[in-house]
Amino acid sequence: MKEFEKLKQFIDKHSGFVLVGHKNADGDCIGTMSAFGIILEKLGKSAVFIVADPVPHNYFFLKKVKDFKVVNTFDCKQSPVILFECGNMERSGINLENYGERANFDHHPDNKFYAELNIVNPEASSVGEMAAIFFREYFENLIDSDVANSLYTAIHTDTGGFAYSNVKKSTFEVASYLMSKGLDNQLVCNEVYGNNKIEKTRLLGYYLENLEVKKMKNFNLCYGVLALKDLERFNCTSRDTENFANYPRGIMGVDVGVFFLEVEQGVFKVSLRSKGKVIVNKVAANLGGGGHKFAAGCTVKGEWPRVLDTVLKEFEKDE
Ligand code: 5GP
Ligand code: MN
Ligand code: MN
Repeated sequence: MKEFEKLKQFIDKHSGFVLVGHKNADGDCIGTMSAFGIILEKLGKSAVFIVADPVPHNYFFLKKVKDFKVVNTFDCKQSPVILFECGNMERSGINLENYGERANFDHHPDNKFYAELNIVNPEASSVGEMAAIFFREYFENLIDSDVANSLYTAIHTDTGGFAYSNVKKSTFEVASYLMSKGLDNQLVCNEVYGNNKIEKTRLLGYYLENLEVKKMKNFNLCYGVLALKDLERFNCTSRDTENFANYPRGIMGVDVGVFFLEVEQGVFKVSLRSKGKVIVNKVAANLGGGGHKFAAGCTVKGEWPRVLDTVLKEFEKDE
């Protein structure tokens, strides 16, 4: 990939970087940012890490995550910027000011190639996999167990534990390579999946109990919803709901799972997950969002259950 050579030159050329994640940053985004941070530090370069939303606590074991800053606006002071999984500038959720040269590092098919340097591979399972291949090529001797754990977290979470259609031969090869670099599979899985707050598990119980199955024209959909008042009642925040969208999809006979999360009064984040029969990123795009064919998302304004109606109608239109 020629872009990797350009990214190497981009890194060589500058001494300090701003690393930017996407809104509601997930394991892929956070793990990959952490890995870049460690490599940059080993190269004697500085990095600041910025995200629009608080990082879920189950990623705090990764080396650089405690340095992440949660901001609305950020003055880059002409520093070069690396954006992770941001298909466009708005996707960061941060008002970035005075940025220098930008590198856009992503694996989403709807990426807009907006930056000076665009490293976008929609075939890659995750940006974690892309980063592992990049580091293996150019910074092989700098990959330590912290880098390996960060990248493996990225890959593991974005592939649903190597279960989704984005998994390829290269994904397993990279995982095997990371193992040779000191990856601790048990540590990562215990921290990421085995470290839930009891409040989160109780919230999940409530959410699962209220899932609804809906027969659409040509497929079956299952949805669940959490309103602000539900989060409050269970003493949780939106950070405690990562992966909740996977449960409705996991039901026998269901083709598409949808998770509605009220993030502000009358504003719902909608997560769409498909088993493969129905393409969901078109529906997300029609509602102002985007994502992958079988995992996508958008934000819809309105009150419940009008928001449900809007999304269901969009599905019927798309068929
Ligand atoms: P999630 O439902 O977990 O937030 O996101 C699933 C996938 O859809 C991810 O690949 C994510 O980047 C993408 N996605 C979610 N929400 C949005 C959105 O509002 N805009 C765009 N462009 N992509 C989104
Ligand atoms: Mn992501
Ligand atoms: Mn990803």
